[in-house]
Amino acid sequence: MGKAEALAQLEAEIIKDKVCPQLAAAASQLVMGDGSPDADILFIGEAPGEQEDVQGKPFVGRAGQFLNDMLQLINLARKDVYITNIVKYRPPNNRDPSDEEKAAFLPYLHKQIAIIQPKLVVTLGRHSMEAFLPDFRISQIHGQPKRKSGIVYLPLYHPAAALYNGSMRQTLEDDFTKIPKILAQI
Ligand code: URA
Repeated sequence: MGKAEALAQLEAEIIKDKVCPQLAAAASQLVMGDGSPDADILFIGEAPGEQEDVQGKPFVGRAGQFLNDMLQLINLARKDVYITNIVKYRPPNNRDPSDEEKAAFLPYLHKQIAIIQPKLVVTLGRHSMEAFLPDFRISQIHGQPKRKSGIVYLPLYHPAAALYNGSMRQTLEDDFTKIPKILAQI
């Protein structure tokens, strides 16, 4: 079975298993991911927002535009990477997903990673980092690759947090430009 087909099956499994039924009832649709299932780089955000809920794709609002700009900085387009979130339904009013909601989606996220088999997992924001590297603080390890159980993670600040904060924006851009070198070293 190809990766795209395996991802479609995983999406069907999430619906069949009724993961987070309250979130599912309030959301327009499940937002599984976007980009190439054969990508070397997998970006993982937190949860869909309003635009993502409407369009059915992750990172298509303001934070997504900024993410596209940063991909361009390193000569990549969305079709060259795969982008997803921990939680795959929009939380009402864009509240933070709860610990229970993140935990409920985590096994499916692990399956998604196993299907894509990226060389590098880039976590966007604290919530995404904590799902994989709970013992670290993002302020201490952003931009530093960490290998764990055979997977290389690169924790980055969340584009939405950096959008209106000049120094964090610069830090995120600096960290982003390290990606090609990190990838080449894996
Ligand atoms: N923020 C996220 O974490 N994910 C999205 O898909 C959009 C905004």
